[in-house]
Amino acid sequence: MLLLVDARGLDRILDYAVPDGLSEEAVPGALVVCPLGPRRVLGVVVGREPPTHEGRLAPLAGVVEGRPVPEELLELAGWMARYHLAPVAACLRLVLPPGDGGRLRRRDDGTWEVTAPPGTRERLVARLADPARAGTARRRAVADTLAAAGGALPAADLCRDAGTTMATLRAMAGEGALVLAGERQASDALTAAGGPAPAPNSAPPLNDEQTAAAGAITEAMDAGGGNLLLHGVTGSGKTEVYLEAIRQARLRGRGSIVLVPEIALTPQLLSRLRARLGPGIAIWHSALSPAERAHEHRRVRDGEADVVLGARSAVFAPVADLGLVVVDEEHDPSYKQDGAPRYDARQVAARRARATGAVVVHGSATPRPETWHALPRQTLSRRADGSALPRVEVVDMRMQGAGPVSRPLARALHAAAGRGEKAIVLASRRGFSLMALCRGCGWIARCPDCDVALVQHERPRRLACHHCGLERPVPGVCPECHGAEIARQGTGSQGVEAALRRLVPGMRVVRMDGSSARGRGAVARLLAEFARPGPAVLLGTQMVAKGHDLPDVTVAAAVDADAPLQHAGFRSEERAFSLIVQLAGRAGRRGEPAHVIVQAYEPAARAVTLGSRHAVAEFLDGEVARRRAHDLPPFSRLVRVVVEGDDGPAVLAAADDLAGAMRLAAPRAGVLGPAPLHRLRGRTRRALLLRAGVSSEITAPLRAVLDDRAAGLRRAGVRAVVDVDPQEA
Ligand code: ADP
Ligand code: ZN
Ligand code: ZN
Repeated sequence: MLLLVDARGLDRILDYAVPDGLSEEAVPGALVVCPLGPRRVLGVVVGREPPTHEGRLAPLAGVVEGRPVPEELLELAGWMARYHLAPVAACLRLVLPPGDGGRLRRRDDGTWEVTAPPGTRERLVARLADPARAGTARRRAVADTLAAAGGALPAADLCRDAGTTMATLRAMAGEGALVLAGERQASDALTAAGGPAPAPNSAPPLNDEQTAAAGAITEAMDAGGGNLLLHGVTGSGKTEVYLEAIRQARLRGRGSIVLVPEIALTPQLLSRLRARLGPGIAIWHSALSPAERAHEHRRVRDGEADVVLGARSAVFAPVADLGLVVVDEEHDPSYKQDGAPRYDARQVAARRARATGAVVVHGSATPRPETWHALPRQTLSRRADGSALPRVEVVDMRMQGAGPVSRPLARALHAAAGRGEKAIVLASRRGFSLMALCRGCGWIARCPDCDVALVQHERPRRLACHHCGLERPVPGVCPECHGAEIARQGTGSQGVEAALRRLVPGMRVVRMDGSSARGRGAVARLLAEFARPGPAVLLGTQMVAKGHDLPDVTVAAAVDADAPLQHAGFRSEERAFSLIVQLAGRAGRRGEPAHVIVQAYEPAARAVTLGSRHAVAEFLDGEVARRRAHDLPPFSRLVRVVVEGDDGPAVLAAADDLAGAMRLAAPRAGVLGPAPLHRLRGRTRRALLLRAGVSSEITAPLRAVLDDRAAGLRRAGVRAVVDVDPQEA
């Protein structure tokens, strides 16, 4: 029995005969070459069983050189496909060696290989040598870009980022300002993320709470695994506990995976891992090039690296004898994949740990209510350096003038600028302002396809839909009442940027959001720019509150701390709460006094009042009680189905039919909806929310119901997207 996976999205299990010569290699997990009509496609052996049907079977054409996928991961992919009602091939692809761009090739000696992905060849890297030799101002700017990137960049990236050409770089190399050298892609993933290897260092003596936490982890590791929560404020020394746990795993010959929400925001974590643990660390995230990914994958599979640091997908790294998975900032929404298969790395980690006897450490200052409720807890109650948590000042924005920056915030920034210090300012929304609004009649510019308010951007001045990308000019007069007073309403990050430049001209403003932080190395460059000496504001969306260890920050502020409360959904409270607590955690480390300012339109909201008092236990106990009272996860399981298509009536009919069928097929499950959703890219959408004690009570009948209707839905151009354990509902 074989499963075929290839670029064309085949998702079928087919039987093949295994020729005698291949019998030993064609084991479960082996990559094989399968004849399919005239083509040869890549497959994975998912089992060796007697054929499921009569008749002559086509023989396998070959086995691809390389190690088979570990059975543990094969099993994991199968479970994921069942649990999430996802295509098996899509799940398997997560555990296969990355093959993007690789092709099947038959070597002269008859064996098969998957060719290396493009980019594996040598590439040219520019390294800063002597910036003083950069002759002209333009060339000095190139040298500055290189310096800001840590001294080295692939030449192609440098050309793009500095807006220059290869010819200029060669000329600069001639002057001795920089060195151009071909480097194998090989080590680039690590150096690109963290620069050259840092000097080794040793651990500080752990305090009592850290010792207890590390002891509990090691004990669990020796007792066959498990999950635990490491609850500690930012700066309480959680990372030291992780490092000790990794060391203990190593002593036992076992590997570790460290998951972080966004690897570019945690360069310090990478260098701490490298300094403490030496070689043997691989990094893993979606921004790696296919060649880098293939290389890191090989290092892990060959045992050259036994510690993997990465984002969500690193949970699938083929670490041998996995002993430990750290999920840092476990509350972060990015652990759930927003596309098929909609897996949750935290849950996959727990599932994988069960199979390998590993320990999963969920670390956070603001854990999710379900984690708080379910897991044994280790607490780090104080900051490691003894500094106090900063006092949080809540500013009632209803009492302030127009504009996104309140008087107390402006004063605090002025004071920080005067002392040469830094600030971080969080604006939940991107863009210049929330929307364009007519003061005369209340008309709001909306996306005709998505039903959401358009966001006004400046430079260039335009309205944009953040759902579908549609762009429109800003109207001069209102299309409804022909009034000329179209006002910007709200506080996007670009609007805050303009206000900051006007109010605190003495501070450099570095904006980091989805638009400015796009592209390879962009985040690292923005952080380096912020870290330059002198007063500066790091302004951005949620991202800036995730930054691990920003230096000299004495002011931390949220311009619209309660913005998450404006979203419906059972997690909006905890999002607002954790935003405030996390933000406070970013300021005033290393003993500097800090000023934390939270601007809110609903200052009396529970998330705001408790967040500003760092009252984590009180907040989470309340959330758990609320979830219990409303029968929300973890006291029930949810499955959300979004039915969508271009043909409105067909979508409505399909959604009603699906809801009716599920009411019959899963009588013990609750079926809510269909509820209307915003149109998205012109498509009509309806949502069903299904609730039961365990998700299989929903997913098993749902799979049958959907299979029954698959052909009809396809004909009607209607899609049903299934999200098991949705994060928003
Ligand atoms: P967290 O991961 O909880 O934010 P870190 O592990 O980064 O905390 O610790 C915060 C700071 O305190 C770091 O600079 C770290 O080196 C230091 N630190 C942590 N534990 C100790 C300790 N036991 N003794 C001295 N310094 C410590
Ligand atoms: Zn109007
Ligand atoms: Zn749109």
